[in-house]
Amino acid sequence: MAIVKINNVSFTYPNETNPILKNMNLTIHQGEFIVLIGQSGCGKSTLLRHFKRELRPHGTMTGTIFYKDCDLEQLDAEVAAADIGYVFQNPDNQIVTDKVWHELAFGLESLGIDAPTIRRRVAEMANFFGIQKWFHHKTTELSGGQKQLLNLASIMVMQPKLLLLDEPTSQLDPIAALEFIQTLHRLNKELGITIILIEHRLEEVLTLADRVLIMDEGSILFDGLPKEILKAL
Ligand code: ADP
Ligand code: ADP
Repeated sequence: MAIVKINNVSFTYPNETNPILKNMNLTIHQGEFIVLIGQSGCGKSTLLRHFKRELRPHGTMTGTIFYKDCDLEQLDAEVAAADIGYVFQNPDNQIVTDKVWHELAFGLESLGIDAPTIRRRVAEMANFFGIQKWFHHKTTELSGGQKQLLNLASIMVMQPKLLLLDEPTSQLDPIAALEFIQTLHRLNKELGITIILIEHRLEEVLTLADRVLIMDEGSILFDGLPKEILKAL
């Protein structure tokens, strides 16, 4: 089943003349682990930022993006916030609390979820990530890799169906980056989360992803299997 359909989407930033996305068409199926690659400036972040619904009011977009058969623009804000999770380069911009436990609980607390449910969901996700041991640590004292895992775990506590990640490992050392990508793979395979990952660490990610998209100047240049890219490397 399709989770995302991008139908003839073009997008131009305000006060610009050249479109950054050019007539894009793309279907993403539930449960896929997709890596999105392409040269800097080709429009990868712009594509993912559309899912935050913050671009259209400012730029010019034609075409439609569907999330589960609903036009993203019409999608209920609460559904959009719950179903779609984002991870960016710098976890310091996303971590908002002082203690690990509180960071994991914060999103559910702000929705007014009852305390026993919060404890259960935080414990389940902390267990999946193996981070219970940090519960009482200060978020500021974690390493970069630990912060990004915490950031991801805090988003997963909200039970999103679709995860969009924009170069989440670019500030991590190679070992932490590999652990992060392997954790994404487990989220995909064990929990069925659909993932779109912008990532330049090709060696690590091409062995784990199901499908590769290569963008060039606002269009999809290649859409296929990682092994086809690995052969060409
Ligand atoms: P990528 O993620 O592939 O590096 P981006 O989507 O970040 O590419 O950027 C694509 C192009 O859009 C770049 O040329 C960038 O400078 C331009 N761009 C990004 N954000 C804006 C903006 N807010 N206003 C105008 N141009 C932008
Ligand atoms: P990153 O590489 O970390 O994604 P960018 O430098 O591409 O960061 O973009 C950071 C911010 O600057 C984004 O919000 C983007 O929209 C904005 N931006 C990028 N390029 C331009 C541009 N040419 N004009 C205006 N804003 C831009």
